[in-house]
Amino acid sequence: MKKFSFVIVAGGSGSRMGGQRKQFLPLDGWPLWRWSAERAVSLADSGIGEVVLVLPRGEAETQPWNESAPVPLRIAEGGALRADSVLNGLLASSFDYVMVHDAARPFAGEALLLRLMEATSETAGAIPVLPVADALKRVEGERVSAVDREGLFITQTPQSFHKTTLIRVLKECGCAVKDEAEAWLAAGLELRCVEGERLNFKVTWPDDLRMARALSERDEVSRRTGLGYDVHRLVPDRPLILGGVRIEDSPLGLLGHSDADLLAHAIADALLGAAGLPDIGNLFPASDPAYRGADSMELLGEAVRRVRGEGWCVAWVDAVVQAQVPRLNAYLPEMKRRLSAILDPGGQNCVNLKAKSAEGTGDEGRGGAMTCWAAATLYRSPDKREKS
Ligand code: MG
Repeated sequence: MKKFSFVIVAGGSGSRMGGQRKQFLPLDGWPLWRWSAERAVSLADSGIGEVVLVLPRGEAETQPWNESAPVPLRIAEGGALRADSVLNGLLASSFDYVMVHDAARPFAGEALLLRLMEATSETAGAIPVLPVADALKRVEGERVSAVDREGLFITQTPQSFHKTTLIRVLKECGCAVKDEAEAWLAAGLELRCVEGERLNFKVTWPDDLRMARALSERDEVSRRTGLGYDVHRLVPDRPLILGGVRIEDSPLGLLGHSDADLLAHAIADALLGAAGLPDIGNLFPASDPAYRGADSMELLGEAVRRVRGEGWCVAWVDAVVQAQVPRLNAYLPEMKRRLSAILDPGGQNCVNLKAKSAEGTGDEGRGGAMTCWAAATLYRSPDKREKS
């Protein structure tokens, strides 16, 4: 099996991204370059033996890396031009073959890397290309003319080569090449084209970053939904508290160890369930005297803190309370307000509530019990999570 060094060129200045150095922009908790580094690591068993990261001077200490990854990370210093940076990366690499990749292409797929490795074993040089999809025009001042797109392809990275040959052609060619393939072709060497990937786009403009953020959320679990349920008996001589609101005109209240606010309980269980955490019966056991008469809105607040501690935020909660008596509709707006204040301290309204009668059926229909179901959707906030 041929062994490859995966060289990530991250030395650029990001002039089209408003001066921000795009290779370090955060994408779901990782700097942009790390995404392709992790892709390379995932192919450790298929021939990628190391990642070489070419960084601007002084950046080496600031970049995160998982030291227990199955391939090492080597750092090289960037040069004035792309070809200088690439050469430095090649000289720092250990294997006979290299893949040279733009740091700003976070989504090169595993299949693409495997295609390139296979093609390189046949020709010593291989690049990913895609046919131009849009109609082309040449615009020179006021003059516009059509350009035939037939036979035109866009070129992507990684570009894959026999290393010492690439070092030679880059040195021969001078430093003005836009990519390594240009130097390779200028030397008259054979180059194999493999099919590129549309998702392997280069983050160049601010809109590209928006696309990348949407994709990175889709690729990972970024939303989860949980379900909560609760039931309590309705008895005389107990206050009726729902969603933190005391229902003053009810002769009956919910029986329970805490204040028995079953709306708060069902919502807490929905949140905890979505985050994969134990339910409130486990977190706040009824056997623990500390929770006798507890304010369930405080328990809900604690559930929210635990959910946030796992990196989740509340996107939405929907709940339905089933009760024959009393009529609850007039209280729903105040319940929503109080619940939203706990679920999203940022103050967004993120709760919907409904009250349903039981149509005279079951314990609920006889006014002997109340039931609540709640569904909660959580999202991961890319800026709030730190990956290892
Ligand atoms: Mg309960």
